[in-house]
Amino acid sequence: MSITRLLGTMWRVGREERLSRCRMLEVQKLRLRRLLEHVLSHSTFYRTYYRTYGITADKLDGLELRHLPPIDKQIVMEHFDALVCDPAITRAGIERFLHDCDDPGVRYKGVYHVMHTSGSTGQPALFVYGAGDWRIAQALVGTRVLRYRPTLGRIRYAFLVKSCGHYAGIQLAQSASRLGFKRLVLSIDDPIDRTLERLQRFQPHLLGGYPSGLAMLAEQQLQGNLRILPRKIIASGEHLDRGARALIESAFATRPVNLYAASESLAFGASCPHHKGIHLFDDWHCFEIDGAPGGARGRLTLTNLYNYTQPLIRYEMTDEIELADTPCPCGWPFLLAKDVTGRTEERLWFEKADGTRDCIHPAVIATLYTPGLAKLQAVQTGPRELLLRLKTTGRSEEIILQVKREVAKALRQKHLDRDISIRTEIVDEIPNDPGTGKYKLVVPYPPAKLPAGNTP
Ligand SMILES: [Zn+2]
Repeated sequence: MSITRLLGTMWRVGREERLSRCRMLEVQKLRLRRLLEHVLSHSTFYRTYYRTYGITADKLDGLELRHLPPIDKQIVMEHFDALVCDPAITRAGIERFLHDCDDPGVRYKGVYHVMHTSGSTGQPALFVYGAGDWRIAQALVGTRVLRYRPTLGRIRYAFLVKSCGHYAGIQLAQSASRLGFKRLVLSIDDPIDRTLERLQRFQPHLLGGYPSGLAMLAEQQLQGNLRILPRKIIASGEHLDRGARALIESAFATRPVNLYAASESLAFGASCPHHKGIHLFDDWHCFEIDGAPGGARGRLTLTNLYNYTQPLIRYEMTDEIELADTPCPCGWPFLLAKDVTGRTEERLWFEKADGTRDCIHPAVIATLYTPGLAKLQAVQTGPRELLLRLKTTGRSEEIILQVKREVAKALRQKHLDRDISIRTEIVDEIPNDPGTGKYKLVVPYPPAKLPAGNTP
């Protein structure tokens, strides 16, 4: 990746922060038009799908976003090969690639960033970004989240993520340029004591990770097991709730930046230094709340305006957004959300034979995805027992073996393998949580109870 091109894109992204709201919406409209022209000439799926609604390339004048039919994860997966705008990319090819290679630094066909997710609906999905798409995501994070300015020394940047497998967080973190950053990748799969030791030695200026992982580090700092002074903390990939935010702030004396990121877009939005909520970057996305323009609270329908490889246009998500009713004094022209919810998963805490505890992060479960596995749920049935419920579409025995192998690997890395027993169960359906009515990827034991602390 050319650093000059990236800096050029960052400069352009930075300039858009200073546009008026009105001018920014014009930019958004132009980008939507360009994307529609692109999909109508390069995506067989969109061309066919839109034609059934009477939408063709010669009828784009005056067309508004709400006139387009929506899509969802199931449609994206069922029509994967026809939807992507590059014939070199196939679902079977990506699935083979993910199966054969779990190094997040390796790109599919040497070019594409691919990632898999089970997301909050439990249905596995694949997402792919070309080099140009990726550069815009990087520029959004570099400019609006890291607020990177070239300096003489390198910035020490540590992040605690799922480091193995093609996952959004690690790929984005790894793409921080080596010219500007000295990076330390910490794995949520590693034992806590090893993570604390490496972090202590590294003394990061910047610290990034999932809110649950950062909250765990904050607990350790407050207990005196860690002494670091990061200048900036970036929380992403999950909902940052008040409890975690307060814990992180009290431990590190800095308020975490809330980066709203997922596989569907690596940078939906972020909080600014005023921390009034999450600014939704609607120069590079269209956000429809509950499908109604001007809606203030509801489910998000997303249009990603920078992914030209796998365009997501009116893509229905499970995330819920509540818009803020007062503006933020920072002057950014973007929509302001009070909060984004729908992405909360809990950690599974296990007890070792020696009485200490360690946890398995939900991302570990989410990456158990393998072809033929339609849905899964990890239920902790006791302090040392894990039940994996699997809904498969074939080759069940092979899938069980593969999933068990991966879980055993994760437990071994945490030194939990000798103490925890794993069971699997093939099910026809995974019922939603009776309390929330929503699917849950992980069910902790006892449900919803977090430990007071950990003794590594
Ligand atoms: Zn602001």
